[in-house]
Amino acid sequence: MKLFNLKDEKEIVSFDQAVKQGLGKNQGLFFPSELKALENVNDLLELPLVERSQVILKHLIGDDLTNEQLDNIIQTAFSFDAPLTKVDDNLYCLELFHGPTLAFKDFGGRFMAQCLSSIAQGESITILTATSGDTGAAVAHAFHKIPGINVVILYPKGKISLLQEKLFTTLGDNIHTVAIDGDFDDCQQLVKQSFDDISFKETLHLNSANSINISRLLAQVCYYFEAVAQVPESERGQVVFSVPSGNFGNLTAGLIAKTIGLPVKRFIAATNLNDTVPRYLKTGEWSPNPTQATMSNAMDVSRPNNWPRVEALIDRGYLSKDVLSGDTIDEEYTQVAMRQLAQAGYVSEPHAAIAYKALKRQLKEDEVGIFLGTAHPAKFRDTVENVLGQPISLPQALAECAGQESFSVDLDNDFSKLKSHMLSLLTSEC
Ligand SMILES: *Cc1c(COP(=O)(O)O)cnc(C)c1O
Repeated sequence: MKLFNLKDEKEIVSFDQAVKQGLGKNQGLFFPSELKALENVNDLLELPLVERSQVILKHLIGDDLTNEQLDNIIQTAFSFDAPLTKVDDNLYCLELFHGPTLAFKDFGGRFMAQCLSSIAQGESITILTATSGDTGAAVAHAFHKIPGINVVILYPKGKISLLQEKLFTTLGDNIHTVAIDGDFDDCQQLVKQSFDDISFKETLHLNSANSINISRLLAQVCYYFEAVAQVPESERGQVVFSVPSGNFGNLTAGLIAKTIGLPVKRFIAATNLNDTVPRYLKTGEWSPNPTQATMSNAMDVSRPNNWPRVEALIDRGYLSKDVLSGDTIDEEYTQVAMRQLAQAGYVSEPHAAIAYKALKRQLKEDEVGIFLGTAHPAKFRDTVENVLGQPISLPQALAECAGQESFSVDLDNDFSKLKSHMLSLLTSEC
């Protein structure tokens, strides 16, 4: 597989390089040089998740990894189901929260960790990533105790739920966590500054593991196929996916799935009040507002860093821009949606509820709606209990870490402080 830098098309890399580097020159995103359609998609849809994903990812990645490597990676990474649950007539939730950290980011995080450890083969690497909640947990768990790989996770102090925080700050070992006095965009900015500092980057062999890493996106393509595979055959051409979006990695993966032949009619980009994209789709004007804190905090992103890939898919003629519409769901309607879902017998959390609400608004009669369930409701227990007025029990993974000590360090929103912290932490170990 060849990929090029969206900011400098002359920079062309292999899949291995793109995974190791994360970003290209000038912080450009890597994008596949070609996206060919899969053959026999209907037969593919008959296969179980792991086997089907092996075919899809071999098709995308080609021979950068051996078949054996890729088969092992996928088997280890995709070790849990993604059931499609019927919520209402013509309306389903694709539950992506049955992995170890109870959020969809387990798919991309685990696949990336396995790819990197397979590609790096003993070389030491530092993963630096910013999280608005769930990436941190998924990355931390995916890389925990993988030899030769250190992980540094930045998150906005006080802006994610305590349980979310506990899921990744309590692991220790090779997982280092830093609470930044700022918001998620500040954390992302610090990550970007780190990658711009060439000598720092080279000293620590920095690698990014957030949704800009191409391996994460490719892994996510697979669960869109899994969703459609569970829809009755007669309804397949009418599927509309509603994707609760923050950094737009999830949506990008869905659009890639359509590009390579998944039968899907269209997509809805559902956001909270941080609605740069829905406004852009309506007006053609890109005007990010300051980031606002909402109940669906994993989507509190006003400058989504995967957006150039979505644009590339459209500009390069892979998809018509008509396949995408946006919707903004404010805090009040998020709560309304959670209550409507509960009335239909389905307890959900704010992110999925936003995608559900967007479907309720936009779905046409002959269409089949699938909203992505990106997190387990227990991950947002306080919010869910407040809104629904009913207790939510904790699954075992959360209950276990809730009582543990956090190893996190507090830092100002200041690159030089982050740099010296990381250098003292990681170079003293060598
Ligand atoms: C990360 C996250 C999202 C947003 O996904 P993007 O790929 O960043 O758009 C939505 N819901 C939850 C629960 C998340 O953790």
